[in-house]
Amino acid sequence: MKNIKLKSGKLKLPAFFPDATYGQIKGIENNEIEKLKIDGVVVNAYHLIKAGKIKEIEKGGVHKYMGIKIPVISDSGGFQVMSLIHKNSELGEITDEGVIFLLAGKRIDLTPEKCIEMQIKLGSDIIMCLDECTHSELDEKRQKKAVERTIQWAERCKKEFMRLTSKMSEKDKPKLFAIIQGGQNKKLRKKCAKELVKLDFDGYAFGGFPMKNGKLLKGILKYTAGLIPDDKLKYAMGIGKPEDIIECVKMGYDLFDCVIPTRDARHKRLFFFQNGKIQEINVRKKYFTINISKLCKCELCRNYSLEQLYEMFKNNYDKAARLATIHNLTFYSGLMRRLRVL
Ligand SMILES: [Zn+2]
Repeated sequence: MKNIKLKSGKLKLPAFFPDATYGQIKGIENNEIEKLKIDGVVVNAYHLIKAGKIKEIEKGGVHKYMGIKIPVISDSGGFQVMSLIHKNSELGEITDEGVIFLLAGKRIDLTPEKCIEMQIKLGSDIIMCLDECTHSELDEKRQKKAVERTIQWAERCKKEFMRLTSKMSEKDKPKLFAIIQGGQNKKLRKKCAKELVKLDFDGYAFGGFPMKNGKLLKGILKYTAGLIPDDKLKYAMGIGKPEDIIECVKMGYDLFDCVIPTRDARHKRLFFFQNGKIQEINVRKKYFTINISKLCKCELCRNYSLEQLYEMFKNNYDKAARLATIHNLTFYSGLMRRLRVL
């Protein structure tokens, strides 16, 4: 079994990290995280900067802030380059120097150096380089520019990381990951991976939007996994449908994060193992015959039926959403445990 030693301890792979963007998993309390046997969580440096939280978290670190001991990955804000600025140029600007976000009259300047500084202040286990994240549909000229910037920014991130961690002991140092861009273009992915590998990072992520028309871009994901040296960690960012995780583990990916388990739970979608197969259930009357206490041992399934959960979503939404979130996160912990013994 593959594993990695992080600041917070040993992490068994493959591992799934649910989203705790602002230092909080939506739907549950932070003091419930550890008992769900979650591998770790992902926070977002850009959102924490925007919310003015860095100073508060910096004092004791993100683990203390959240009251958890499990590993924390911090994402850089590269995804927001795509989800905000690429979609609407009024929300900011991307230059070779860095990114300027303009939101509700507030300006946030994010350079590669600042991005690393903020993540080190957070005290995360794994920190991500700033990249120019792209949608798979973007034209080749802009993909090429994004790859060039991603490489230049990664070099600056590494330099700043070396400067800021030079006095840290090995066990206190976070791991630094770079992100491979290039859209669906194999030549660009290869160029990006080659240049990033030369700079020598602890791990490499598949970056960019990984889906097209709701389907996983399997070809380019597999190709990109093959470009990452096998002794380095391979992180499939934003991939989180159970069947997609299974596919990506076969390709060699070790790390995953996604909003799916928690967001789907709030939208009444639950995942189960039934007769060895994964089943997705929308909490509706037609499923009332399924006895969930036989399928799962979480707080929801031990104490309630699907019919009761259905009623609860109508009468006490917060309680229902909490229980559904606990269930989906328990399912994902179980899924990753199963994948480790394959
Ligand atoms: Zn359950």
